[in-house]
Amino acid sequence: MRLFSPEELADVTTRTFVAAGWPQADAAEVARHFVLANLSGHDSHGVGMLPLYIAAVHDGLLSPASMPVDRINAAPFLVIDGQVALGQPTARRAVARACDMALAGGVAVLNLIDAHHIGRIGDYAEQAAAAGLIAMFWVNVAGRVPIVAPHGGREARWGTNPHAIGVPDGQGRPLILDFATSRMAHGKARVAFNKGVAVADGFLIDAEGNASNDPAVVFPPAPMGALLPFGDHKGAGIALIAEILSAGLTGGALIKDKPVKSWIINSLFGILIDPAKLEPDTAARSARIDAIASYVRSAAPREGFDKVRAPGDIERETRISRQQQGIPVDDETWRQIVAAADSVGVKV
Ligand code: NAD
Repeated sequence: MRLFSPEELADVTTRTFVAAGWPQADAAEVARHFVLANLSGHDSHGVGMLPLYIAAVHDGLLSPASMPVDRINAAPFLVIDGQVALGQPTARRAVARACDMALAGGVAVLNLIDAHHIGRIGDYAEQAAAAGLIAMFWVNVAGRVPIVAPHGGREARWGTNPHAIGVPDGQGRPLILDFATSRMAHGKARVAFNKGVAVADGFLIDAEGNASNDPAVVFPPAPMGALLPFGDHKGAGIALIAEILSAGLTGGALIKDKPVKSWIINSLFGILIDPAKLEPDTAARSARIDAIASYVRSAAPREGFDKVRAPGDIERETRISRQQQGIPVDDETWRQIVAAADSVGVKV
């Protein structure tokens, strides 16, 4: 394991995507997104994704020539066909347009279908919160084999379909709830797999449906097991709703479609709301939100917990510590990044 500065990881990422043909601004946006995911403690959506994206480039499945096209642009509705364009710049621009729509009219309903992998969904909730907006996102995963079993099932039926909600607090500490609807993100299983470490009880089943601690059960060539949904039937229900809202309504790629080698397709459904339309007194609204979150944070911690946190707190704390101490990247992940960069002519 080695520690890297945010700048080092951003540099490798930017140079690799520029070498693969993307404009500097798009490459820099992927780099910003990856590094912020790493800084936030979500290594599953950081620079470790780079080799997967470059594999999709070499397979001819991810191309700088792909550009999103509007399907519907009639406020408050914005429906965009992502055309498997590079996910992070595509999603960021789509959310920026939806933010403008919500600021103008109070609400926006965004559906971005078929972008390439868009990464950490909380990033877009933070983007909306920075614009003063509440945002709710439901996302599906397609182009891959299903990896998460429905409650009670021993066969997988969807991806890790993430869900995120952001609420601005008016004081720069938005509440950002952002999670995979599996108990563990697939990328976190990949990190454990690359490190060669077991995962805790209750996250995985093997191909026979037996409980497992071995992350290899959700990676080829092992017969495919599955990740379990968080919260049993509750998380499974949110995952199914995400599949329908994000891609099912408007014809985006679905997990039940045939998987395509090295593709990770995300469709996103979002509702953005201007809280000023509900409570125009910004100071009073901000004070109330802060009082509620502070009340929750003030609960005495149980044994095994240092303190009680609100959604988004742990990411803010981790950003401070990783900015100071560096971002850890395990040796296998770094080897894959160097090889992927090398494959497009970038020496690291
Ligand atoms: P996670 O289990 O770490 O949960 C994160 C959420 O829980 C955050 O809102 C965080 O602030 C909150 N949280 C964490 N610890 C807390 C604590 N002690 N007290 C209170 N709140 C706490 O996240 P995850 O499920 O592993 O997901 C990781 C990332 O993967 C997310 O950013 C998600 O968007 C992303 N993801 C993306 C895709 C995709 O296809 N693009 C798929 C799945 C997941």
